Amino acid sequence: MKRIALSLIALLCLGLTTAYAQNEKPQEPAKAMNVIYMIGDGMALPQVYATMLATGQELTFEQFPYIGVVDTHSASNEITDSAAGGTALASDHKTKNSMVGMNPDTIPVKTVLEALQEQGKETGIVVTCYVTHATPATFYAKVPKRSMYEDIAVQMAENQYLNLIIGAGMRHFNQRKDSINLVERMEQELGWKVYDTLADIDTTCKKYAVMAADDHMPKAAVRGDFLPRAVKTALQTLDGAENGFFLMVEGSQIDFACHAHDSAWMVDETLDFDRAIKVALDYAKEKGNTLVVVTADHETGGLSLVDPNGRYTNITCSYSTGSHTCLPVMVYAYGPGAEQFTGWMQNSDLKEKIMNACGLENIGDGLPEIDEIHAKAVKENLDSHPSPK
Ligand SMILES: [Zn+2]
Repeated sequence: MKRIALSLIALLCLGLTTAYAQNEKPQEPAKAMNVIYMIGDGMALPQVYATMLATGQELTFEQFPYIGVVDTHSASNEITDSAAGGTALASDHKTKNSMVGMNPDTIPVKTVLEALQEQGKETGIVVTCYVTHATPATFYAKVPKRSMYEDIAVQMAENQYLNLIIGAGMRHFNQRKDSINLVERMEQELGWKVYDTLADIDTTCKKYAVMAADDHMPKAAVRGDFLPRAVKTALQTLDGAENGFFLMVEGSQIDFACHAHDSAWMVDETLDFDRAIKVALDYAKEKGNTLVVVTADHETGGLSLVDPNGRYTNITCSYSTGSHTCLPVMVYAYGPGAEQFTGWMQNSDLKEKIMNACGLENIGDGLPEIDEIHAKAVKENLDSHPSPK
């Protein structure tokens, strides 16, 4: 008996030695060829957990092996808006609320979409709001105020970095105050194909825009599976790009529903976003070379899940504000480089992690990080605790 045990141990040791010898060469860490960056507007943990409870379904959020926490404060406010939040997620820079793609001194910043396009990757954006709305705009436009929709539309039309953009908000292109028909200009002079529906897109076309409504897309309950379908369409277009691709996808209307304190709408939107995440995650699992990062720009509504009778049984959604909160949000990651997205991080840290995952140096744009609110807090702390003489 003893001898058998000993030979078993010897066999095991031999097995280990052989395995070690075979793996002697340290393997290069896998690099991400493609990146799918997904932002749930206004979506922190309460929105995701409320959707789990309301639907009783296992969500795609539960399949991510790496999860971290993202501090969302902006350079001007502890509570960020989508413009400053999006700018920080897209670039290395926290900025002032309402600013799009600029640092607090109104100097344009380089976004992860632009940096990866310069490295030869194809690029795309998919949303369910105006394509000129704050979150998508932060990836390609540079304006001091997010409400400058018609200027953002011109910057989108003239953008050299974008291969495809899918969303809504056609009126900022063809019903403009300056009466310019930007759709005509895009098609005749700027190399775009412009569609008003997902149905008849030629996915072999290398530069197209879809604006499937004049305003924002209707609510999830009305627009159906537009977002997951749009992600599929974008992936069909970008798949096989010689140097890979970068795709940003936004679950745009979770924020709208939480501003309105409409829990049924919020659950529909979060579930719709989860289905879009499933399309991305299934693609990444099949390909093996695609990083998927899911996060949010901020929390909206101050949502908590409570039993108003204090009995711990009848859980309902309770909102504490009609606006945003400073609650940190989650980040979920899968694929090459995903292990970087754990622990506590700033929203302005994500671009560098994505560049690292692609095996690329985050050269940056040479602009200093200006974080006024925290610089002020540190100064006040120092002033109240003078160093001993
Ligand atoms: Zn909002």
